[in-house]
Amino acid sequence: MSRVISLRDLQEMVRTGQDVKNLPADAIITPSARDYLHELESNAPRTPAPVPTGAPKAAAPSNDKLTPPTKVLNSKSPKAELEAFFNSPYAHNLKEQICEMGRRLWQRAYVDGNGGNMAIRVGEDIAICTPTLVSKGSLKPEDMCLVDFQGNQLFGTKKRTSEILMHLQIMQKQPKAIATCHCHPPYSTGFAVAGIVPPTCMIPEYEVFASVAIAPYRTPGTPEMGQLVAELVDKHNTILMANHGVVTWSHNGIEEAYWRMEIIEAYCRTLLVTAQLGKIPNTFTPTQLNDLLKIKQSLGYVDPRYGMKECELCDNAEWRPGVACAVEPKAEAVVGYDADAEAAVKAITEQILAKLKT
Ligand SMILES: [Zn+2]
Repeated sequence: MSRVISLRDLQEMVRTGQDVKNLPADAIITPSARDYLHELESNAPRTPAPVPTGAPKAAAPSNDKLTPPTKVLNSKSPKAELEAFFNSPYAHNLKEQICEMGRRLWQRAYVDGNGGNMAIRVGEDIAICTPTLVSKGSLKPEDMCLVDFQGNQLFGTKKRTSEILMHLQIMQKQPKAIATCHCHPPYSTGFAVAGIVPPTCMIPEYEVFASVAIAPYRTPGTPEMGQLVAELVDKHNTILMANHGVVTWSHNGIEEAYWRMEIIEAYCRTLLVTAQLGKIPNTFTPTQLNDLLKIKQSLGYVDPRYGMKECELCDNAEWRPGVACAVEPKAEAVVGYDADAEAAVKAITEQILAKLKT
């Protein structure tokens, strides 16, 4: 199997003085690693990728907006410490990131009215989240709330989003989830209303960055709704919420959770155009898909297809008007069928020959 080489691998090779020009010929190089190689060739290496700002290891006041505080906070921490953290430059930077993602959601019409909400984990069992009844297009850092994992509001002048339980249940079920984003993008929500998981094996970005499942409908904001979503997040990072919208999570930060919205929405839109063209779509071969899944695994993204047999990889049986699996039927099945047919033909031929002789 060919090896996947990521940006992190290359940076480690450079750091340890290895020659990055002698990579195995069959290595799969991720797009960001390829960019880095080009930069090295032009003698202008960029600085190492910054530590994801949404992944605080600890929480206590810091004067640096990008450096996570040194002490891990939780909902039982002294109130003064929680308040100092909530008002720190570091927390302010996270709040600004949420505001920026809110603007993008609104500009792309992924939210309607006061719909949509986001959260970032900032300690053992605490998160910063968006308020209720505020358009995502006009969020301000001072609108944000600090909640514990039961959904109790600890700080913030505005009331926390009514859908916070789902975000917190995702974070509790999936320890890697440090950021969550929920909205109602029309094309993906259309698939969620129809109850259709988008077919796979068509666009590389979708295969690498998304892993999609549908959660059944329950009343928004109820613990049961969050529970049904949380049951899917061990192997999926993008959940279509039936008759409602989409929620995504990321282990890197809120911007990546937002990117997942762009990816699922662009994909669902592309699928509808493809379906309207009236032709059975061309799809990846199992080998092509496997190469994408290797990149996905090297990036630390979840996917239920890791380790599956090729014939199981692109089962799009539910999709209409029709996406066929590119995998040939199993070899032994073909042999079995042919052997039977051959035997039948042989028997009939022998009977005919016998009749001709008589
Ligand atoms: Zn919603």
